[in-house]
Amino acid sequence: MSSTKFITHHADWRALGLPYYPLNVHYRHRFGGRVQKISLDGGFTCPNVDGTVAIGGCTFCSNRAFSPSRRVRRQAIERQIEEGISRLRRRYKNERFLAYFQPATNTYGPLEKLRELWDAAISDPRILGLVIGTRPDCVPDDVLDLVEEFAQRTYVSLELGVQTIHEASLQWMNRGHGHEASVDAMRRAQGRSFEISLHVMLGLPGESRAMMMETAEQIARWHPAGVKIHNLYAVKRTPLAEEVLTGKVRLLELDEYVELLADFIERLPPDTVIERLSGDAPPDDLIGPAWCLEKGEIIKRLKETFAYRNTYQGFRYQGG
Ligand code: SF4
Repeated sequence: MSSTKFITHHADWRALGLPYYPLNVHYRHRFGGRVQKISLDGGFTCPNVDGTVAIGGCTFCSNRAFSPSRRVRRQAIERQIEEGISRLRRRYKNERFLAYFQPATNTYGPLEKLRELWDAAISDPRILGLVIGTRPDCVPDDVLDLVEEFAQRTYVSLELGVQTIHEASLQWMNRGHGHEASVDAMRRAQGRSFEISLHVMLGLPGESRAMMMETAEQIARWHPAGVKIHNLYAVKRTPLAEEVLTGKVRLLELDEYVELLADFIERLPPDTVIERLSGDAPPDDLIGPAWCLEKGEIIKRLKETFAYRNTYQGFRYQGG
């Protein structure tokens, strides 16, 4: 069953002259105006950082900050919200926010801790809901039941880092779980009253275009409410940085990425929100590719590509 059934009327993005369904249009439709996410640190680590399923974390992730010995929550959630709001207000003059539990694996902890954090976030009247980033192997049924309970009270989006359907790539990235974990998580999470958003990466070493399209087709069959797509990019102090600097791994060029992105999005259902189109590295830490900081250029090129092809999101969607 599709999680999109809970978005009763998705926005008519084609009527807006767009070639894909972007997040800001979804939020305007869902909340009646602009909404910003405040990134919150709940003090979590990851099971592939702390040794439970692997050590060192994902190859591309600058997860040093998530090592268990350093995981004390930075500040109370209420304080982080206050600071996040004042920062965002200066830029956007906005009054409506989502609490985004973003760094590390935000369901990797005791249920009482999750409840306490999520309760603290939604007790602020300016917070319209929760976005919870996690991994497919960290959503046991009792966690999903708790997410469901919060979804009865507020808007909730559960973000699952699927990344790819290919086992060799999951192993290369030291993910500590296989594709079966994603299949299992989706089987148990779908059909509940929260949105599901899936993270995927393009340009993983050893993945051909055909393999990336197989991932797109599986995402399309799952038919999530949203998808976050980004290119493989390297940041300092990661195993990937070393592999890129020594020439073992080649990162995509912008032209290649935009073509793949269009191919990927053409295969997705038209009502799946495209939440992200590129990586989000801190500029000072980025090894490459440099173009992934130019979000405006990526969007422009993508729109040009769709216009040139005369295609759009869902053009190659097979249904399902
Ligand atoms: S990418 Fe996600 S799962 Fe992997 S180490 Fe980083 S935070 Fe943890």
